[in-house]
Amino acid sequence: MVKRLKNYINGRFVEASADRYIPVHNPATCQLIGECPDSSRADVDQAVKAAHAAFDEWRSTPVLSRAQYMHRLRNILEERFEDISRVVVEENGKTRDEARGEVRRAIESVDFAISVPSLMRGYKVEDISSGIDETAERQPLGVFAAITPFNFPFMVPLWFLPTAITCGNTYLIKPSPQTPLSMDLFYEIMDEIDLPEGVVNLVHGGAEASQAVMEHPDVVGVSFVGSTPVAKIVYETCGKHGKRVQAQGGAKNYIAVMPDADMAASVANIMGSAFGCAGQRCLAGSVVVAVGDAYEPLKAELLKRASGLRVGYGLEETTQMGTVISDAAKQRIEGMISAGENEGAQVVLDGRGSTIEGFEAGSFVGPTILDGVTSDMSVARDEIFGPVLSIMHAEDFDSAVDMINQSRYGNAASLFTSNGKYAREFKYRIRAGNIGINVGVAAATASFPFGGQKESFFGDLHGQGPDSIEFFTDKKILIERWL
Ligand code: NAD
Repeated sequence: MVKRLKNYINGRFVEASADRYIPVHNPATCQLIGECPDSSRADVDQAVKAAHAAFDEWRSTPVLSRAQYMHRLRNILEERFEDISRVVVEENGKTRDEARGEVRRAIESVDFAISVPSLMRGYKVEDISSGIDETAERQPLGVFAAITPFNFPFMVPLWFLPTAITCGNTYLIKPSPQTPLSMDLFYEIMDEIDLPEGVVNLVHGGAEASQAVMEHPDVVGVSFVGSTPVAKIVYETCGKHGKRVQAQGGAKNYIAVMPDADMAASVANIMGSAFGCAGQRCLAGSVVVAVGDAYEPLKAELLKRASGLRVGYGLEETTQMGTVISDAAKQRIEGMISAGENEGAQVVLDGRGSTIEGFEAGSFVGPTILDGVTSDMSVARDEIFGPVLSIMHAEDFDSAVDMINQSRYGNAASLFTSNGKYAREFKYRIRAGNIGINVGVAAATASFPFGGQKESFFGDLHGQGPDSIEFFTDKKILIERWL
């Protein structure tokens, strides 16, 4: 039976008023696994009204009681850990271990929310003037919403919702229509923890539902994670409608390797960065810049390791790399490899036209390595979001830094070296928000803000960590004189 998804509004699952349902396929088997409503403005309005109505009572629920719901949520997430991971594999195509990693990271965000009672404190100064005290109190603001991408369908919504509601706000999630099933399961779990009606809501759909969220007068703030063109739309639209906004966009992440790096450890890390989640991470290494003599050994080792990757269905434990999200994504990625080839790059490992026995209809792209890539090529500039690694060669450290800083994106960059001076220079000079030193995927943990600069981030307060407390609360100033 294929599940026809419902929205979750005011404490119950309800049929959307959509006149269209978007098919959801398992990208490995091509099997239809769900039907996702393309919800209308009316559906969004209904959800926002419910969240708005729930706000006053929820904000006055003691923060310790609000945090108790997060303890309950955490327990159920642990109990359902494998079920959730399985749904993520089925709808997204990543491997089971990658899905487990995603769910673990999501649980860490719930852990962070549990500490909100000690994080949303204000501050006070007595006698700021004679007999006058001044206080800054943190208050929740109302209805917040998240618009989220397909690549981490379970983790990304949880970057926001737990902290937002524990701060006393109410919430609405609009997940990716390509991967709506893990949020459907998450709201089943939310239903079990028995929050007051309207505190959390779910509306499935695409651009129309997002637009309705961004324009709704009762939504006070929006967290967006997705591609850069949409992040720009979200940033501008929310600004126009007077909302707080944090918009995390796309990426083109560079990895520099110095000749003094530990080659075996570096290559193992770069492999995970470039081909983990089939390259569909916003922190995926996309271009490796081999500095000086690092070039030959690095290229040889990468080729050897990437050629041996076991590509297949994510639910099979032996699989090391799964599918990309859809056939459309496969066509787009293969087109970008061909564009790189036409621009002069050498395809030294070609994952185009890849098929896997038993999963012939699956959206597989094999690991691909392009050599001789230069800064002017599209494969060096544009986000590919697939298992494609470009190799560039830089004469020295300074040229590598220049190459990396030319990118219009600034999500992440890594350096592999055993030299502390290069490490410090790299961190200091690279214009990217997440820096890895001998780390290929520099993913901020839940208690740190998730960086991002240039066209990878629009806003000022990042997701996660102390920034999220700032984003989800306002500071009210109280000046008191008692006569
Ligand atoms: P996407 O931009 O296509 O979609 C993201 C969300 O926006 C979805 O919910 C989608 O329904 C909605 N949307 C799509 N078009 C819209 C429009 N015109 N107006 C309003 N909403 C719209 O992104 P995706 O393909 O789902 O995800 C992949 C992208 O996300 C990659 O570019 C990746 O780098 C990026 N990403 C960034 C981060 C980060 O932290 N910076 C994290 C994960 C993914």
